[in-house]
Amino acid sequence: MPKKKVIFLDFDGVLNTERHQLALRLGGWRRQDEYGPLFDPEAVENLRAVLSAVPEALIVVNSSWKLEGMDWILELWSARDLPGKVYGVTPDYVPDLLNIDLDDYDNIVMLAGKGNEVKQWIAEHAPGGCHYVIFDDMPDFLPEQEEHLIRTDPYVGITAENAAAAIQILTE
Ligand SMILES: [Mg+2]
Repeated sequence: MPKKKVIFLDFDGVLNTERHQLALRLGGWRRQDEYGPLFDPEAVENLRAVLSAVPEALIVVNSSWKLEGMDWILELWSARDLPGKVYGVTPDYVPDLLNIDLDDYDNIVMLAGKGNEVKQWIAEHAPGGCHYVIFDDMPDFLPEQEEHLIRTDPYVGITAENAAAAIQILTE
C-alpha cells in the first residue's frame, strides 16, 4: 500500500494572516464569521495549489481551532469552501511535567507540544510512516520533523513558495 500523504495544518499565522485581518480592518469590512477570523484568500489559494498538485493529500488539523471538534471543523471547511478534505485532527499532547528533568535536552524536546501531537498522530494512523508536511508559523516541533516543517510568516501565511516546497516534499 502506498504511504499516506499528510498535510498537518495550523490556521493562525497560516490561513488566518495578519495582513488579511489588517486589510479587512482598514477597509471597514467584517473580520470574522461565526467560526472565527476570516482566512486570507491568497493563503487559501496557495493551499489549494498544493491540493491540486497532490489531490490524495490528507489534511490533519493541528491548530487550536481543533478544540471545537471534528464536526465543527468539517462544517467550517464546507461553509468557507476550503480546499481538500479534512481527514482528522491531531491528538492533544499533555507533557508529563512531573517526570521532566529540565536539565536534560531530550526532555526539553518532549515539551514540543505540536511536534509531539504530530508524532502521536503518525504513530496511530500511519505506523509505517507517511509523506508529510507541517504548515506552521511557530517552531514548536521535534528535530526529526525539521525537514517537513514549512514555517510560514504569520503576516502572509502560506505563500506560493511555501506551496511549491510542500508539493516537492509530498511528491518526492
Ligand atoms: Mg499559528
